[in-house]
Amino acid sequence: MAPKLPINISTFSKSQIREWINSFEVILTDCDGVLWLYNNILKNSNVVINRLLEMGKKVYFITNNSTKTRDELVEKAKTMNFNVGMEGMISTAYLAAQYLKQQNFNKKVYIVGSSGISKELDLVGLKHVGVGPDVMNGTIVSLVKEQFKPDPEIGAVIVGFDENFSFPKMMKAASYLNNPSTIFVATNTDERFPMPNFVVPGTGAIVKAIETCAERKAVVMGKPENWLCDIFFKEEIKRDSRKFLMIGDRLNTDILFGKKNNFQTLLVETGVHKIDKVQDIINQINNGDTDLDLANQVPDFYISSLGDLFNNYD
Ligand SMILES: [Mg+2]
Repeated sequence: MAPKLPINISTFSKSQIREWINSFEVILTDCDGVLWLYNNILKNSNVVINRLLEMGKKVYFITNNSTKTRDELVEKAKTMNFNVGMEGMISTAYLAAQYLKQQNFNKKVYIVGSSGISKELDLVGLKHVGVGPDVMNGTIVSLVKEQFKPDPEIGAVIVGFDENFSFPKMMKAASYLNNPSTIFVATNTDERFPMPNFVVPGTGAIVKAIETCAERKAVVMGKPENWLCDIFFKEEIKRDSRKFLMIGDRLNTDILFGKKNNFQTLLVETGVHKIDKVQDIINQINNGDTDLDLANQVPDFYISSLGDLFNNYD
């Protein structure tokens, strides 16, 4: 059966909005495109989040961004007056470190990524190399024969966002991954960053490049994959998944992640996807596309901006 268009929260009466807000206890919210865009807060999103916290809701900021540590993200949120602490901040760099810890990993990590990842590995006591520029210098022959000396200590490759991504990095990562026992972790697979007039490649483009030449698939930490829930919320979700609300601006990461876990889902239109994209997906389903991931991208609710959530609430 084709899914229905999501309900616009702004059409709720006072009693409906009150009843709806009472229906969830745990909020997982995406950051970029929901709370802020780069370094600019999205209007009133802090007021809404702080009010939900005051009401006793548990709020977790979950971001696919791997370039910052949790500390740095809390710092950023605090400068925008969000009352969030470390316990409410979950990033993919942190998840990658937790994942390796869960696997009892104790070797060294080759990172294609930034200091967001290396600092999180420092915090769990794992050695690493790879952060920073690694430019092509000479020929492929000299790279292979003279410059690259594989480190036998490397037992895992983590791939995240890397502005210094290069041919040597791709070659080194894939060479380490040629050993089937090397763990292959990707922070996320977002295709691009939202930016008007330009296409800024996201981590997904880098992950695909390495997966292609390594001829292997990475274990992906970020939404829509489920490591976050497996590591932190497994028991609570089993008890009552509808007490969870997932808020996001992307259908194929945030909403898909929420629906796969049977959470309530809210699309905000301040980031990547708007309601017309939901309509496109519903049309595709009506035209016979039976891909389950597609049906799971249709949110339950939407609102033009998170800052408007309490507009009709006393
Ligand atoms: Mg987002």
